[in-house]
Amino acid sequence: MKDTYSARTRTFLLFVICALLLTTLFPTYSAATQEPHPTQETQATQEPLPTREQQTMQRMRAALLTNTQNTPSLQLRSEGDPMYDFSPEQRRSIPQRPRPVATTVAPAPTGPFVALTFDDGPSPHTERLLDALAARNVPATFYVLGSQVNRHPHIAARIAAEGHELGNHTQNHRDLSRQSVATIRNELTLAQNTIFNTTGQRPATLRPPYGALNRTVRTIAGEMGYPIILWSIDTRDWERRNVQAILSHMFDRNGRPTVRCGDIILMHDVYPTTIDAAIITVDRLLAAGYTFVTVSELFELRRIEPVPGQVYHHARR
Ligand SMILES: [Zn+2]
Repeated sequence: MKDTYSARTRTFLLFVICALLLTTLFPTYSAATQEPHPTQETQATQEPLPTREQQTMQRMRAALLTNTQNTPSLQLRSEGDPMYDFSPEQRRSIPQRPRPVATTVAPAPTGPFVALTFDDGPSPHTERLLDALAARNVPATFYVLGSQVNRHPHIAARIAAEGHELGNHTQNHRDLSRQSVATIRNELTLAQNTIFNTTGQRPATLRPPYGALNRTVRTIAGEMGYPIILWSIDTRDWERRNVQAILSHMFDRNGRPTVRCGDIILMHDVYPTTIDAAIITVDRLLAAGYTFVTVSELFELRRIEPVPGQVYHHARR
C-alpha cells in the first residue's frame, strides 16, 4: 500500500515538474495566443488583390467550364481542339477561384471566342465604351498610342485597372514602313515605356499604324518580343461614321453574326459612332453565344503561341 502511494506521489510530482519545465521553456506560447487578432481592416488590406493574370485565368476557366458543360458550341468541338476534350474528372480538377468583384457583373458567356480591338485611343469617348464593357463583363484590347496615353493618363490607367489588355500602337502613329531603324525602335520603345509607366501593364503585342509593315519593322518587333497582331474583320469605322455601316461587317442582312471563332475585330475608340456600334456588336454577339476575350487570351484559348516578329490576322485554325 505504502509503495503504491509513494509511487502515485512520485508520478504526481514528476507531472508537476514537467508542467513547470514546459511553461519555463515555452513562455512565448501563452503570450502569442494573447496577441490581439488583426482587425478586419488590416486583414483586408493585406489580402492580395487578384492580378490581371489571375483575372484572365478566372475568365478563361469560367469560359472553358461553361463551354464544356453546355454544348451549344458544337462548331468548336468539331474542330478537334484538344481544349474541348476535357473529361468530367479533368473538368472538376480545374480549380475554381471566386471571381473578383469587378468582374461579377454577368456570368461567363459561352460560345465561339472573339477579340474586340480598339486602336488610336485613349480618347474622351473611351470612357463610355469602358462603362458599357464593364456593365457586360466584356474584356477588350486597346492598341493605344503613347501620345494619347500622355493626353489621357487616367483613362489609360482605367483600361488596365478594368482588366482589359493594352497593346503597343506606337508613340505617334507614324507609318513605320517608311521610317529609319532608329525611329522605328524609338516609336515602339517610347510607347512601351509610356504605357508601362502610366498603367503598370507591359504591352504584349504590337499593331503597327495602318497595318504598314516591311521586313525591318518585323525584325525590330521580333527583337523587342512583339508578335504583330493585325485583324480579320475591318469595320472601316473611321471611313463611314455610321452605325449600320459598321455593323454590316459583322452581321448579315438578317442581323445574324458573320463573325467566326478566333476573329479579331478592328475598331477605333475615337468616334462616337464606333462606341455606339461596339455596344450593339457586344450585345448581339453575346446574345448569339459568343465569348469576348482579349487578344492574348484568344491565342491562349486557341492554343496558338504568338511568335515575336510574326504577323497574325486572327487566331482561327
Ligand atoms: Zn491606328
